[in-house]
Amino acid sequence: MMASSPVLMRLVASAYAVGENAGAIIRKVLHSGELGIVEKTGANDLQTLADRLVQKSICTSLSRSFPKVTIIGEEDLPDEAVEEDLIESGQNSVILQKSCPDQYASLKEEELVVWVDPLDGTKEYTEGLLDHVTVLIGIAYGGTAIAGVINQPFHNYQMGAGATLGRTLWGVLGLGSFGFQLHQVPDGKRIVTTTRSHSNKLVTDTIQAMEPHDVIRVGGAGNKIIQLVEGKASAYVFASPGCKKWDTCAPEAILHAVGGKLTDMHGNAYRYDADVKHMNSAGVLATLRDHQYYLSRVPQDVKEALSSD
Ligand code: AMP
Ligand code: MG
Ligand code: MG
Repeated sequence: MMASSPVLMRLVASAYAVGENAGAIIRKVLHSGELGIVEKTGANDLQTLADRLVQKSICTSLSRSFPKVTIIGEEDLPDEAVEEDLIESGQNSVILQKSCPDQYASLKEEELVVWVDPLDGTKEYTEGLLDHVTVLIGIAYGGTAIAGVINQPFHNYQMGAGATLGRTLWGVLGLGSFGFQLHQVPDGKRIVTTTRSHSNKLVTDTIQAMEPHDVIRVGGAGNKIIQLVEGKASAYVFASPGCKKWDTCAPEAILHAVGGKLTDMHGNAYRYDADVKHMNSAGVLATLRDHQYYLSRVPQDVKEALSSD
């Protein structure tokens, strides 16, 4: 059964297990109290020991099981041996039992590109905003995000000892998304979710032009897509460069698999081929519906400031 599953489903099943292991590493580093914080480009662009260990864990685990897949991780790390206890070789059995959408059933390993954000919401992790943190593993084929896994290591952490800590959301285009209850904000209500730590005038001007009833400022691209699919927000608006391909690949796949849309601020799709530029220079607009309304409200000077290259 396992060996005969199409490679896409085996890769998603592995990413699920690898993502759960990543979540456990992130909790363990937090509990150790030694976060090992390093500034990358500045005080708002951090890396912790958890970011480093998890990237090693995810990239090495997946490349051992899928040696021909291209795997691109956020962190720039020295090329050194990876401790065996970081390796996860399991696969989620529920995913292996799902049937692969026909259009992806004969994909080859070498045609797939995996985008890894080992810890999305690092700033929030260091500030104790733990439920903003996610692990993002996105899978692309032909430049399109076709599948994704989001692990949220601290989901339920405020619910007390009886609650299960952490969860995994996953999705495949043509199959659907799982691990959460799909909800939508009531018709006509505009609730925008956006950055809490990377705002600027382009971001605030654009949100104002959308005339939202409410604005939710939270960390993480993964976390903001969760706000959308769980009906807490109707649009994720970030009219600025800053997010990268590893921030949007997995969230985009999960959102698209339930009928939503993620584009830049011009309405153009991002591509996820192995050789694309990492920066999402023209911002991020994601919705479950009414995408056109939000696009139509983007001010002209903001559009001109955000080149889509
Ligand atoms: P945020 O919504 O601010 O939590 O950002 C979502 C993702 O994009 C996170 O991985 C951030 O690290 C990244 N990001 C957004 N803006 C910037 C920026 N100006 N510098 C570095 N990373 C950014
Ligand atoms: Mg990120
Ligand atoms: Mg990250």
